[in-house]
Amino acid sequence: MAESNIPFIQRAEKHLGRTAMVTANGSFTYDQLLEASSKTASRLLSGQKDLAGRRVAFLTPRGFDYPAIQWGIWRAGGIAVPLCEVHPPAELHHTISDCEASIVIGHSDFAEVLAPVAERNKIPFLLSEQLFAAGNQGLPHVGSERPALMLYTSGTTGKPKGVVLTHANLEAQITSLIEAWEWHQEDRILHVLPLHHTHGIVNVLCCALWAGAACHMLPRFDVTVVWQAFVEGKINLFMAVPTIYFKLIEAFRKSSPDQQKIMSQACKGLRLMVSGSAALPATAFQEWKAITGHELLERYGMTEIGMALSNPLRGRRRPGHVGMPLPGVEVRLVDDKGEPAASGSSGEIEVRGTSVFKEYWKRPGETKAAFRGQWFKTGDVAVIEDGSYRILGRQSTDIVKTGGYKVSALEIEEVLRTHPLVAEVAVVGKKDPQWGERVCAAVVLKVDATLSQDALRKWGKEMLAPYKVPSMVIFVKDLPRNPMGKVVKATVRNLF
Ligand code: AMP
Repeated sequence: MAESNIPFIQRAEKHLGRTAMVTANGSFTYDQLLEASSKTASRLLSGQKDLAGRRVAFLTPRGFDYPAIQWGIWRAGGIAVPLCEVHPPAELHHTISDCEASIVIGHSDFAEVLAPVAERNKIPFLLSEQLFAAGNQGLPHVGSERPALMLYTSGTTGKPKGVVLTHANLEAQITSLIEAWEWHQEDRILHVLPLHHTHGIVNVLCCALWAGAACHMLPRFDVTVVWQAFVEGKINLFMAVPTIYFKLIEAFRKSSPDQQKIMSQACKGLRLMVSGSAALPATAFQEWKAITGHELLERYGMTEIGMALSNPLRGRRRPGHVGMPLPGVEVRLVDDKGEPAASGSSGEIEVRGTSVFKEYWKRPGETKAAFRGQWFKTGDVAVIEDGSYRILGRQSTDIVKTGGYKVSALEIEEVLRTHPLVAEVAVVGKKDPQWGERVCAAVVLKVDATLSQDALRKWGKEMLAPYKVPSMVIFVKDLPRNPMGKVVKATVRNLF
């Protein structure tokens, strides 16, 4: 097998014989990952010396093929561009054409959708099943400053743009989490998250494979199968978004008391359960604790920066808070003028460090606008309380400017969620000539509950005194969410 300077490869060579992936198609060792990725790289190069940063878009079922192809692209000197399996052809076309992919790799399950998109872009479509049969050739030296991964993210506005992460960025993001959450080679994590997003790629898959641990990857998220995995005791780590925890809580509630006992007991075998990518309601934190004994470790991060803030692995985890800067990450809050916020005041989160991305692909203007010197402007607003950050929301969507006051939609949501008949809620600001913005709440009621807008507002008057009672409330069946389970506030706003 060819030698490599890519840290993942060098590290994997120290874990020969150990299980890397447990999937629906069986278990795979680090040896198999090295072999398959070397063959993938050779097939992609087909006699060339180096892909030299060419983009390779790929889509495979959730399993061994994913890291084998990702590493193969890296070993050939390319940039891996993972596609999203639930995206319609138009979205896939946007990603493939925007990143100017030179090849599209797809499993035969996706060939029907992907082959025409590749053809439209006049680039070859390779079946992933054929990659691992290639012979091995010499592979290039790939420096740590070279781009490794491009992830498409919507950011705040416009069409999704490509976030370019170098090998050095990835290494910084991964090693920070390895240190903070004490990853080790005996860890076994259950992977249920999408593979086109930083959470599933970096925090779960990359960290596991960096640590020499085993990544148990489910073919899809299935609440029963997740509970079953906890009960079987084969895993000791779990990371998910709040929506997934809501579903796990709901399934627990529907189980018999005997089953519940087994489920609760099983969770004691896990060493860590993490939540992030969206605000974890304090109610869910408490409920999960009551069910499993685990205080969910909430962290904050972003595609562009990896993870920035985290509650401690050891020590007090505060509901509604995201903790302190992770190792190697500098974080500060700035006011409207870009000056460091006064102590105790809220401000925009800015992040600096090796973990911060290189650029938005082919968007120098947007890249420049996203930075203040070396500090990346996240667009999220937070406040530090007792040494721990609390996220108030995205400046563009969650900070509602009403009657001259700035209020946090997340804080109002948190209060409304404590109403006994409310299951879920999303608060947005709607442009209004009198108020500037009017506070509006879309509310999902608990099954069979009835509640009038007036009754909720009356209740809110007292509860929300320090905040702002929503002047408009509508009752909806479901909140609109993206594939990551995050509420899409732009769509919520259109409901009013
Ligand atoms: P993404 O780049 O898709 O991971 O989205 C990043 C955004 O998710 C951040 O800019 C925040 O607005 C939000 N986010 C991530 N983690 C949290 C958290 N723990 N609490 C609140 N918002 C979060």
